[in-house]
Amino acid sequence: DEPNTMTVTQAAEEAATLRQTLNEWRRQYYDEDAPNVEDSVYDQKYERLVELEQQFPQLVTPDSPTQLVGGTVKSGFDKVTHEIPMLSLGDVFSQAELQEFADRLEQNVGHAVDYNCELKIDGLALSLRYEDGVLVQGSTRGNGTVGEDITANIKTIKSIPQRLTKPLTIDVRGECYMPKAAFAALNERREAAGEPVFANPRNAAAGTLRQLDSRVVAERQLSTFMYNIADYEPLKARTQSDMLTEFADLGFAINPDFKVAHSMSEVFDYIDQYQNERPELAYGIDGIVIKANPLPLQRSLGATVKVPRWAIAYKFPPDEQPTTLLDVEWTV
Ligand code: NAD
Repeated sequence: DEPNTMTVTQAAEEAATLRQTLNEWRRQYYDEDAPNVEDSVYDQKYERLVELEQQFPQLVTPDSPTQLVGGTVKSGFDKVTHEIPMLSLGDVFSQAELQEFADRLEQNVGHAVDYNCELKIDGLALSLRYEDGVLVQGSTRGNGTVGEDITANIKTIKSIPQRLTKPLTIDVRGECYMPKAAFAALNERREAAGEPVFANPRNAAAGTLRQLDSRVVAERQLSTFMYNIADYEPLKARTQSDMLTEFADLGFAINPDFKVAHSMSEVFDYIDQYQNERPELAYGIDGIVIKANPLPLQRSLGATVKVPRWAIAYKFPPDEQPTTLLDVEWTV
């Protein structure tokens, strides 16, 4: 397609069709934990919609998938309001686009910036609330502002401390995931029992965490890596990387494979390293995330309605070998 030769009417028609398709896929992915297409297929259509909306900004609607954080609240769960929203991440698919992101950011702030490089864990986001160091609530991201109360479920996850080493009142955010070995064992058991298998570890984790029976959650060996906080004020750390170390001291599981990059060439080395190591990792990753390292800079850069301006995800190209069975039946 040559966008320049498109009329507004043509673009509006294409955008409407894309929105309808994407919204249906989002419902299956976020609400039912049962996708019908590979992420790369979703990402391609999404990028096309972004392109059209950039070309014709009058076509942006508030309910466009480009303006919304995915997810709803499943019936049976209480709602939790996130006073500080849980956002998505902008994404890029090439090193050139990643460089552009950094150039823009550094032009905005007027100087070079250190980036904390992290693995993009393929699970689902969760938020943990501690009051005076005691775990009081766990919730899903939901639509970013309203998520599901999954306190009973997260209390069965071993990597989540019930009590911190310090009496802090904080909302810590991170990823809940199912290790590859637990995923394989779970699907083996389900197959033997004649039950439908899960398509991938991400959907198995999401389907498990959004279970009403917490005994099932307890059996399924979910784990977590924490990497974000609603408000960093109660911490000592003033950089993203020090925050991860402080999280570990407080008792949280963190992913140890993070690295501060002082230049984009160090970021690119990090990408190459983990693209190679990806098959050997004990959990799934679908890319890497780079984050401006100083926390006050993160705060001053802020966010759009959907994504922070201080971070971006670089998504790996899709796996070559077919790893998933997307035509299976879906239940939990
Ligand atoms: P995302 O998953 O691409 O990125 C944002 C999320 O990354 C965060 O919310 C967080 O949960 C996670 N994350 C993992 N490691 C992180 C780290 N170290 N630091 C910060 N965040 C980290 O965005 P999204 O909005 O949750 O989902 C959109 C993506 O979901 C799409 O790009 C697509 O790949 C997939 N999707 C697929 C379908 C489908 O039908 N297959 C449908 C909808 C969405």
